[in-house]
Amino acid sequence: MQQTASALTRAARLVRQAKRILALTGAGISTESGLADFRSPGGLWERFRIVTYPEFLESHEARVEYWSMRRELIPDLLAARPNPAHLGLAELEASGKLTAVVTQNIDGLHQDAGSRNVIELHGSNRTAACLSCGKQWLIEEIQLQLEGGDLNPQCDVCAGLIKPETVSFGQNLPAEALNAAFELAEQCDLVLMIGSSLEVQPAATLPLTAYQAGAKLIFINRTETAYDELAEVLVRDSAGEFMQRLLEACQS
Ligand SMILES: [Zn+2]
Repeated sequence: MQQTASALTRAARLVRQAKRILALTGAGISTESGLADFRSPGGLWERFRIVTYPEFLESHEARVEYWSMRRELIPDLLAARPNPAHLGLAELEASGKLTAVVTQNIDGLHQDAGSRNVIELHGSNRTAACLSCGKQWLIEEIQLQLEGGDLNPQCDVCAGLIKPETVSFGQNLPAEALNAAFELAEQCDLVLMIGSSLEVQPAATLPLTAYQAGAKLIFINRTETAYDELAEVLVRDSAGEFMQRLLEACQS
């Protein structure tokens, strides 16, 4: 508890001093919203093979496999609600201290919490689009088709392939989001990293970029990361509880 208290005090001081906070979030921020980390034991990736983007494009069987997994995943993603960690970041943005949230998550929970400037490095599960003509659908509409037994949904305009607007393995990250994330990392004065193991690029490099540009780092994550020694404050507690206490401490 002693260590927690002092981490809280130091984090609160950093947040009070900061003017341009950048939040960087990964799967760990959404586990408290009931979303399992795909990579964790028992996660979807243990039960389903990962279908890469080239496979998705080339093979009907791979698409059926891909959409079978999505049919199970989408209802969980849509049912999840933001937790105090998401809400805390939205509050920091509303107060003018936080400039943006860069996330590896596809669940849309930052937007649900009220965050406005959200950069989604891996895209979003909330919509799907035709890979040929770009027509978009809400994911709920596609889910109805999946539940109706169509596991290879196609565009009603051009018969092109439909895919959620998430980034698959073997698919390029959206360049615009990537550039914006690195620009924000260079300009911020404090990084609040929540729930990422910092193992997947480019998210892994963002705290380092910020650090090298002079920013301080606060890491709230259950497990160690390769960049822990750069962080001024390391927190292993529940992100939701810590964010709540952090905001209270900043106001007092
Ligand atoms: Zn189309």
